[in-house]
Amino acid sequence: MPNTGSSSPELAGKPPVGLPLWLLAELTYRCPLQCPYCSNPLDFARQGEELCTEQWFKVMAEARQMGAAQIGFSGGEPLVRQDLAELIGEARRLGYYTNLITSGIGLTEAKIAAFRKAGLDHIQISFQASDEQVNNLLAGSKKAFAQKLEMAHAVKAHGYPMVLNFVTHRHNIDHIARIIDLCLALEADFVELATCQFYGWAELNRLGLLPTQAQLQRAERITNEYRERLKAQDHPCKLIFVTPDYYEERPKPCMNGWGSLFLTVTPDGTALPCHGARQLPVQFPNVRDHDLQHIWYDSFGFNRYRGFDWMPEPCRSCDEKEKDFGGCRCQAFMLTGDASKADPVCGKSPDHGIILKAREESEHSAVNIEQLTFRNERNSRVIARG
Ligand code: SF4
Ligand code: SF4
Repeated sequence: MPNTGSSSPELAGKPPVGLPLWLLAELTYRCPLQCPYCSNPLDFARQGEELCTEQWFKVMAEARQMGAAQIGFSGGEPLVRQDLAELIGEARRLGYYTNLITSGIGLTEAKIAAFRKAGLDHIQISFQASDEQVNNLLAGSKKAFAQKLEMAHAVKAHGYPMVLNFVTHRHNIDHIARIIDLCLALEADFVELATCQFYGWAELNRLGLLPTQAQLQRAERITNEYRERLKAQDHPCKLIFVTPDYYEERPKPCMNGWGSLFLTVTPDGTALPCHGARQLPVQFPNVRDHDLQHIWYDSFGFNRYRGFDWMPEPCRSCDEKEKDFGGCRCQAFMLTGDASKADPVCGKSPDHGIILKAREESEHSAVNIEQLTFRNERNSRVIARG
């Protein structure tokens, strides 16, 4: 499949637009689990009808024609889609590198074999905790932990690299050594220890999830000790530690720049430059109404924060803007009500006090797991009703 990089247009006075190399296909918002840090929209229960198989085929073909090379199937829980093997097979036929991002709930040996046959390249399984009880409490399911363990073994047995993802927060981060030990016992090849990022349900539960600085520093130190030990043993397992930007002084270069590399298509066909962007007061296009060529290059939503012209001060005259693009638009909107502002994580932002206050609050939080708002249909409907 030809890469159509040469067609990347240069909009008048703006830098050339990059290619949508990474397509995230959010197949569904349905999910049997209820993680209180889920990044899905709070009002997911009122979103429109899911795209059908044929519509996803069209999205994948158009994105591939425009240069997309990797596809991630996620959700919700993508395994609830009965056409998942078919979608994987088509993605493979089109030449994508294919990733499945799953909780492992609903996975079976037969499904792994079918996905393998369809050409799936990569499976990532997420865990909630190293302890069965905490894992199941966070997931909202009594069977989740045992099923995840069984499927992690099965994935490895089918010849896939073992890629595990642990979302850490104040209720499990003190168990980081046990988490890493579990990953090693499962013969993991890659482990992402990702402190939850505060979007969607995680933002709603921030007071009950944000670790303290001391918790974070301890976890990072222990992870580094494990890294040293594994390196000395020539062990193949790689540990990736992701800190929450609430403890940084500069924001992350969100999505590597708005509309520059990542393209998300949500279950109902809304196209977004990032999976959190749906909450912004911006009109985003839908793949039912437009082709991806128009969506990526010409739509208002994908051009809204491209380049640098939209930036107010302090970003406009800042010599770091080409490094971080002013940070995350969703975070700016969630914390200040204005998506054009500098991300408050930045120490130069006049709103940085919001971040300092959140850090301070985390020192005194007494919110326990049972008090978190779990991500489920009922809670989503209540939130959507306002
Ligand atoms: S984070 Fe949890 S609730 Fe959200 S989609 Fe993933 S498994 Fe489901
Ligand atoms: S002021 Fe804006 S561009 Fe400069 S470092 Fe902060 S967020 Fe980045």
